[in-house]
Amino acid sequence: MKNEWGPIRGRVCGTRAGRIALFPREGGAIQSASKDTRIYLAGHRGLVGGAILRALEDGGYSNLLTRTHAELDLTEQQQVREFFAEERPELVILAAAKVGGILANWEKPYEFIQENLAIELNVIHEAWRSGVKRLLFLGSSCIYPREAPQPLKEEYLLTGPLEETNRPYALAKIAGIELCRSLNREYGTDYLALMPTNLYGPWDNFDLKTSHVLPAMIRKFHEAKLGLPGEAGEPREPHAPVTLWGTGTPRRELLYVDDLADAVVFLLENAHAADLPLGLINVGTGEDVTIRELAELVQHLVGHEGEIHWDESKPDGTPRKVMDVSALAQLGWSPKVELRKGVKRTYRWYLQHLEDK
Ligand code: NDP
Repeated sequence: MKNEWGPIRGRVCGTRAGRIALFPREGGAIQSASKDTRIYLAGHRGLVGGAILRALEDGGYSNLLTRTHAELDLTEQQQVREFFAEERPELVILAAAKVGGILANWEKPYEFIQENLAIELNVIHEAWRSGVKRLLFLGSSCIYPREAPQPLKEEYLLTGPLEETNRPYALAKIAGIELCRSLNREYGTDYLALMPTNLYGPWDNFDLKTSHVLPAMIRKFHEAKLGLPGEAGEPREPHAPVTLWGTGTPRRELLYVDDLADAVVFLLENAHAADLPLGLINVGTGEDVTIRELAELVQHLVGHEGEIHWDESKPDGTPRKVMDVSALAQLGWSPKVELRKGVKRTYRWYLQHLEDK
């Protein structure tokens, strides 16, 4: 396989359980990663980072480096530079970002582009500067053009206008991909960008002001089922109607977050940037449902018996978003947790952690 920068110049050898040896790219030094490689996981307390941490620990990785946001603000270059100089990680997984749903992206466009650009520039640049040869960068499916043909192939990047509602965030993510690709081309690093589809699962954000669609639905149906006060504090009867944004017709793909984490560890062990066209790879299920179908599934699993109202004055976002996951499938990875089971697990987790909400 070739990518836009030329033929493959390295290869990966090894298995999930064993040692991985990364053979040299042209003129480069031999890199190796093993279960005791010093891995810095940025964003380990987030939905994605938390799942990756569990997957790495389960996979036997024993030399993991983490910092909370309070301990290390990744938007601050000096802090990041000092951290890399002191800790000297050998491999980096960048899962820290400012993340939110349509509402948060719409209301805070500047924060979404500024903070994400700063985090990416600081972490990717300081990683390279301190000699890190290998990095996995978490992007997002929203990098693809709004009207791109479906399913979304990696090669559709930058072929058309982006979705308006999250353009600042998407542009920051595209800049992150370009940082990785530029370093790979100019300095022979192995910085791979992963584009996950919409994710959900335990530790998701259930705050209605900032959450993604699935956790918002779980919370709304659960609170309406119990007749808890509505969003404006109004009193409600049990099984009160639930109002959801948009028309319900957009189609979305959802991946259980532990599957994403499994894919991250799989790619860490079985792929690298030069093997993949454009140095990026989609991670998803390749299957989608309408928002209406998703709402009915959540309603059923939560046990809400009231009506669903669709507020069509609110934006729908991209009409359809489903990933072409053939590159990942060819490498030998596929998801394991189907949607119904994943939503059930997520709702169970939500019930167990209600007091934190
Ligand atoms: P979360 O908001 O759950 O987690 C983000 C993490 O980043 C948190 O631990 C947060 O810490 C940390 N963080 C944010 N800003 C800073 C900062 N300035 N300094 C240090 N740490 C910071 O997001 P997700 O886990 O959902 O997303 C992680 C990655 O996965 C992102 O790159 C996102 O684009 C990608 N992704 C997510 C999808 C999803 O559906 N969730 C879909 C596709 C991609 P704190 O909470 O303390 O601020």
